Amino acid sequence: MHMVDWKAIEEKWQRRWAEAGAFETDPDPEKPKFYLTVAYPYPNSPQHIGHGRTYTLTDVHARWKRMQGYNVLLPMAWHYTGTPLFAMVERLKERDPDILETFLNLYNIPEEKLPELEDPISMAVYFAEEIKHGMQRIGYSVDWRREFTTVDPIYSKFIEWQFEKLRKRGFITQGSHPVGWCPSCGNPVGQHDTVGDKEPEIEEFTVIKFRKGDMVFPAGTLRPETVFGVTNMWINPDATYVEAKVDGETWIISAEAADKLELLGRSVERVSEFQGNKFIGVTITNPVTGDEFPMLPASFVDPKAVTGVVMSVPAHAPFDLVALDQLKREAKKNPDAYRFKPSDIKDLEPISVIEIDGYGPVPAKDVVDRRGITDQEDPKLEKATKEVYSAEFHGGRMRNNTGQYASMPVQQAKEAVKEDIVAKGYATTMYEMLEPVQCRCGSEVVVKIFENQWFINYGDPAWKRLAHENIDSMTIIPIELRQEFHNVVDWLREKACARKAGLGTPLPWEPDWIIEALSDSVIYMAYYTVIKGINEVGPEPEQLTEEFWDYVFLGKGDPGSVAEATGFPAEKLEEIHKEFSYFYPLDARHSGRDLISNHLTYMVFCHDGIWPRELWPKGIVVNGSVLMEGSKMSKSLNNIIPLINAIDSFGADPLRLSLMITAEPLKDADFSPDMAKNMRDNLERFYQRVVKIIEQGRGSPDNLHDIDRWMLSRLQSYIAEADEALKELKVRKTIHAAMYNLNQDMDWYQKRVARELERPERADAIRYVQWRVLDTQVRMMTPFTPHLCEEIWEKMGGEGFIAFAEWPKVDESSVSQMSEVLERMIQTCMEDIQKITRVTGISPAKIHFYTADGWKWKIYLKALELAKREQLDVGTLIKEAFKDAEMKARSKAVPGYARQIVDDVIKLPDSEAELRLKMGQLNEVNILMDAVSFIEGEHGCEVAVSAESDPWTEDPAKRAHRAKPYRPAIYVQ
Ligand SMILES: [Zn+2]
Repeated sequence: MHMVDWKAIEEKWQRRWAEAGAFETDPDPEKPKFYLTVAYPYPNSPQHIGHGRTYTLTDVHARWKRMQGYNVLLPMAWHYTGTPLFAMVERLKERDPDILETFLNLYNIPEEKLPELEDPISMAVYFAEEIKHGMQRIGYSVDWRREFTTVDPIYSKFIEWQFEKLRKRGFITQGSHPVGWCPSCGNPVGQHDTVGDKEPEIEEFTVIKFRKGDMVFPAGTLRPETVFGVTNMWINPDATYVEAKVDGETWIISAEAADKLELLGRSVERVSEFQGNKFIGVTITNPVTGDEFPMLPASFVDPKAVTGVVMSVPAHAPFDLVALDQLKREAKKNPDAYRFKPSDIKDLEPISVIEIDGYGPVPAKDVVDRRGITDQEDPKLEKATKEVYSAEFHGGRMRNNTGQYASMPVQQAKEAVKEDIVAKGYATTMYEMLEPVQCRCGSEVVVKIFENQWFINYGDPAWKRLAHENIDSMTIIPIELRQEFHNVVDWLREKACARKAGLGTPLPWEPDWIIEALSDSVIYMAYYTVIKGINEVGPEPEQLTEEFWDYVFLGKGDPGSVAEATGFPAEKLEEIHKEFSYFYPLDARHSGRDLISNHLTYMVFCHDGIWPRELWPKGIVVNGSVLMEGSKMSKSLNNIIPLINAIDSFGADPLRLSLMITAEPLKDADFSPDMAKNMRDNLERFYQRVVKIIEQGRGSPDNLHDIDRWMLSRLQSYIAEADEALKELKVRKTIHAAMYNLNQDMDWYQKRVARELERPERADAIRYVQWRVLDTQVRMMTPFTPHLCEEIWEKMGGEGFIAFAEWPKVDESSVSQMSEVLERMIQTCMEDIQKITRVTGISPAKIHFYTADGWKWKIYLKALELAKREQLDVGTLIKEAFKDAEMKARSKAVPGYARQIVDDVIKLPDSEAELRLKMGQLNEVNILMDAVSFIEGEHGCEVAVSAESDPWTEDPAKRAHRAKPYRPAIYVQ
C-alpha cells in the first residue's frame, strides 16, 4: 500500500482543471503571452514512454511560463496526412503477426476492435483518442478546444492558402529531380515514411567506365580522385548480374542496378543474366590510366549499392586493402578454388596517390593495422573507412603519379577529376542513396528521377538568407545547435512536396497531386490561433478563400469587404485576426533532434516566406530521445512501455519526474522502471514531511536564529539555481536543486532543530521556516509534478490552482552568507566528531569544544587581509603579527601558528576568504552553544563549549591549544 493514492489525486485534479477550463487560453491584453507548440502526433499507433520526453518537457515549459505570469497557450492536434496510416491498415488487414502481437499484447487493443481499425481514418480516430487520453492522464496542460486533424476540410483550405502564398513568392517549382522512392508503394519517401525515421539522403556518385573491349564494367565511387590508385576490380561472385544495353553501351551491372538505372530515366535493355563469378579473372582496363588488372571476387561488395561493381584502391580504402590481403592468403592456401592463379595476384600492391601528414605512404594500412582488422566482414571497417576518408579529404594532397592533379588538395581534386573524366566520357554519374534506408512497408528505398514533380524550393538563395537571419535572431535551446540549423539551411535543396497517393490536401492548381506530410505541417502553429474562432462560426470550407486567410493572417484588406466576399461575419473576422496577432509570433517550438534536418528548418523557411519579420518564430527547443535501461526502445528488444501502462504502474507525477530527471540537453534520457519507482518513493517521502509541516502550521518569523536564517538562505540559492537552469530548460539540474538538494538541507535543518520544537519561543520560528520552504518548494516542483503539488497547495490553503501561483523569486533579504558560513562550521565540527569516533571506536561520554583565543583571531584576520592584497606569505605574516605588542609575550607560539594559518587561508576560495574578513572575529562559543542541544541529541552525551584559555576549561587531553578560528579543537572523551 502506498502512502499516496496517486490515481485518486490525478483524477481529482484533472477533473478540476477540466471543469475550470484552467488551460483554455484566450487573448488577455492585460497579460504577456507565451505561445508554444510541440509536434502534433501521427496517430497510427498509441504513445509509449519514448514519446514522453518531448511532450513532458513542453508541458513543463508551459507550466513554468504560466507561473511566471504569462498567458500560456499550449494546443494539440493530429497529423493524419500521408501514407503511414495506409501502410499500417494494410498490415492489419493482412493480419501481419508482428502487428497483431503489438496491437493485442503490447497495446492491449481488444481483438473485437480490430475490424473497426481496417480503415485509415477509423484507425487514426481510434489512436488519436487513445493518445489524447494518455496526454490528459499524464497531466499535460493543453487547450483542447483548438484540436483538429490535418484532413479536416477547413485545414485543407488553410494548406491551399500556404501553397498559394509560397507559389506566388516563387518558392514552388516543378521539374525532374531525384527523390527517395519506394518501388512497392510507388511513392516518394520522406523521413516519416522510413523505418527508424531515417532521412533518405541522396548523393551523386561518379561511375567510372572500366572496360574489357566493348564491355563496360561501371564502378560507382564518391572518391573519383583515387582512380589513379586502382589495382583491381571487385565483383560479388554469388550475386546476380546482368549484361544490359544502357543508353547504347554494354554494361555489366548487378540486377538491382539495372532496375535503379531505369528509375533514373536511363534506357536499359537486359541481354542476359548470370552470377558475378562469370567475370572473375578477366582483365580490365582503367580508362583513365590505361592500366590493366584482374576482376576479383569480394563478399563485401553489395549488389544493391550503386552498380554492384567496385574499383579497388587498397592504398586509400580499408575494405579493398583487407579484402585483397585476405584473398592473397586464401588463394595461396587453396589455389584451385578460384578462376585465377595465386601468382596473378601476388604482386598486386597498394598504389598510393594521396599524401597526408600523420600517416605513412599507405594510409589505409596504418588504420587497418592500428585497429587490428584482417577480415573484410569485420564491422570495424566502416569506422576505418570513415577515418581515412575524412583525413584525406581534409588534409590530403595528390601525389606526383596523378598527372595534372599532382599536389592539388584532395578536396579540390575530387571535383576536378570528376568533372574531367565525365567530360571525356570515361565516367558518368548516378544518383544513389547515401546510406541504405527502408520504407515502412519493408522495401529498400531507391532513387527515382521524377518527371514534373512539384517541389518546395528550399534551395532558393534569397529564401535561405531569410532563414539564416531568422535562425540568428531566435532562441535555440540548446544553444549549441544554432550552427547545425545554419548548416541545414545551407544544404537544403528542392524538397518534393506532393505525391500521387495518401491522405491530405490536393495541390490547389493540380489536384491529382496530394501535398505530403512534411510540407503540410510547417505553419500549422498559426492555425491553432484561429480554428477555435472559425469553428464558432461554422462556415462552409469554400467560404474560406485566399482573401479570408490573407486578412486573418496578414491583415490584408478590410473586414467589411472580406466579409462581403466570403459571407464570414466581419466582427468575427476581426476577432480572429486579433487572436492570431495576440499569440503570434510563436515563442517556442519543441521537437526531437532528428527533425532539425527537415521539419524544424522547413518551419523556419515557410514562416519566413509567408510572414513579415515580426511574425517569424522566436524559439526552438530540441530534445534528445529516451532510452530504456540504456538501450534504444524497440519492438524487437521488447522494451517498449505504452504511456498509459506506465501511468498505471508508476503514477503520472513519478513518471513525469523520471522522464525529466534524466533529460540532459542533447543527451538521450535513460528511463528505467526502477527509477520511476524510486521517484515515486521520493515523492511519497516528501509528501509525508509535507503533511507534518502542514499540521504544525505556519508559525511566525519573530524569533529567527542563525540556523533558521541558514535554511532560508539556502532556499534562496536553490531558487536561483532552479531559475538559472530552467532558462535553458536544463530540467535535470532544476529538479536536483528544487528537490534533492533542498530536501537534503531540509533534512539537516529538521534534525538541527528537532529538539527546539518543544520550546514554544523556538517552535514558531521553526514552523515559519518549514512553511516557507514548503511554500517555495511546492511551487518549484509544480511544473514537474503538478497533481501532487495541487493536492499539497489545497492542504496548505493556497488560493486557486498552484498551476497559476507565482514562480518563486530570490528574496535578497533572506540571503545570509554569514549564517551559511556559521552552519558550515557546525557541519565541519560534526564531521570531525564522526571521524574521531569512527577511528577510535569510542562511544562518547562527553564532547569538549575549545574555541580559539583572541590573539589567534588577530593573526587569522591579518592573514585574510594580506591574502586579499595578494601579499600573504609566512614571513610577512609573522612580521605583521609582531607589530602587535601583545604577540611579544607569545613569541614561541606565533610563528608555528602563523605557518598553519597561511596554509589554511591559501586553500580558501577567494569569495569565502573575503566574506570571513568582512565578518571579523566570531563569538564561536555562542555559535556552538546554539548547537549544543542538537549535538548532545545526536551523540547522546554531554557537550561542553569553552574558549581554549578560559580558566574553567577542562582540558584533560591537552587539546585546547589546537583551536583555530573556524576550526574549534575537539576532544571526545
Ligand atoms: Zn513502401
